[in-house]
Amino acid sequence: MQIYNTLTRTKEEFEPIEDNHVRMYCCGPTVYNYAHIGNLRTYIFEDILRRALLFNGYKITHCMNITDVGHLESDADEGEDKMEKGAMREGLTVWELARKYESAWMEDMNRLNIERPEVICRATEHITSMINLVQKILDNGYGYIAPGAVYFDTTKFPKYADFAHLDLSGLQAGAGGRVQLLGEKKHPNDFALWFLNKPRHIMQWDSPWGPGYPGWHIECSAMSMQYLGDQFDIHCGGVDHIPVHHTNEIAQSEAASGKPFVKYWMHGEFLLVSKTDDDKKTDKNTQEEAAKMSKSSENFLTLQVLIDKGFDPLAYRYLCLQAHYRSELRFSWDTLQSAQNGLRRIYTLTADSDPLSDEESFKAARDEVLSALNDDLNTPQMVGLLNRHNSFKLWREFDPILGLNIEARSRRDDGELPVEVQALVDERNQARKSKNWALSDDIRNKLIDMGYEVGDSPTGTTVKKKLL
Ligand code: AMP
Ligand code: ZN
Repeated sequence: MQIYNTLTRTKEEFEPIEDNHVRMYCCGPTVYNYAHIGNLRTYIFEDILRRALLFNGYKITHCMNITDVGHLESDADEGEDKMEKGAMREGLTVWELARKYESAWMEDMNRLNIERPEVICRATEHITSMINLVQKILDNGYGYIAPGAVYFDTTKFPKYADFAHLDLSGLQAGAGGRVQLLGEKKHPNDFALWFLNKPRHIMQWDSPWGPGYPGWHIECSAMSMQYLGDQFDIHCGGVDHIPVHHTNEIAQSEAASGKPFVKYWMHGEFLLVSKTDDDKKTDKNTQEEAAKMSKSSENFLTLQVLIDKGFDPLAYRYLCLQAHYRSELRFSWDTLQSAQNGLRRIYTLTADSDPLSDEESFKAARDEVLSALNDDLNTPQMVGLLNRHNSFKLWREFDPILGLNIEARSRRDDGELPVEVQALVDERNQARKSKNWALSDDIRNKLIDMGYEVGDSPTGTTVKKKLL
């Protein structure tokens, strides 16, 4: 597989550190609000990467964090605490708020057919690891303690600017005439590892430096190293994480371990939306008028809004597959509608009279699609090829990567159910006979997720293919 590595700004042949076993970390959600469809685009990209690695025969340990400790509105340790602000807004405790949006996020993941990482870890349950890591950074001489926080001293880490190609000259205090509000920080890029003396902050833990709470960046360093080791293969996130969050993660982790942290960094580009709410204008707008979808602007679309407008979550997944993960994607209702129409057409394909009926042509087409995948996850090219071949068998072959539920959704005649659906129906009938209502409900939800309407009749469960 060729993948683009942000670290070297080139496409590279992927070779895991440990034979055949890939260890991968993806920055997860901050659970103070619903995920918007821009965030979801990034999780879809990471899911495609995960599935592509599995398809290529690798074993994988994939770890994702849940940021449930408040972090400040700006990446640079400034502004209000997002969690506390959200809790106030909703009349919940910060803990209730975190659980509410964690569940909502899980539901979005399920609806988009995003596979669950092997490890999902909450920041609040890893405070000790974070404290230990901060201690190590201090012991190694890379940090200092000020009244308001323990800081990372970025001047002690000469490679600090390399990852994001930062130009620090204009940022150094006193240089270039730019006024910097340093406060107690020694240098403008120094960042908090552990906040101190914030008595009004609700979430607090004891630490060797006094009660307080962790900085945002230390969470990801501590949890990724705990589950994946000091050095691992792939670290992902959105492009916004390059200049601050991931730059700081590298500094912290390498200061603590003395070793190169991650071999391949991969970043997903933004989903853009028009600055106006007017659907018609969205399509006509120029690139300049489109803005990054963001949570803090309070102007964002959730998956639920798409569903309420009659869109299938998998149509959004299909839309994302039509753009390369390293290109910006402009969202509009028209393109979502086209994606839904396209998907609906794919679902009408069946194995009967398949254009790739002989083994040789099937194999040639399969190789072609696979090389598109392995060329830095070129999903738009894959989708183009699959649409050109118009073969049910080929779509089904790549569904373990694309995750469009081709097999389950494609048969329209309800008399003949796909085997896995029939198996679930049988299992549910069994569960109802033994009055196991929880299991019966679980299976019902599973069937609904697979695109079926589920009913109960005197003879047992009935299922009917839901039309898009
Ligand atoms: P957050 O919950 O804000 O920490 O973001 C979760 C993930 O979504 C991160 O990997 C971000 O880089 C990514 N992200 C944020 N905004 C967008 C956007 N407009 N398009 C794509 N990804 C985004
Ligand atoms: Zn992170």
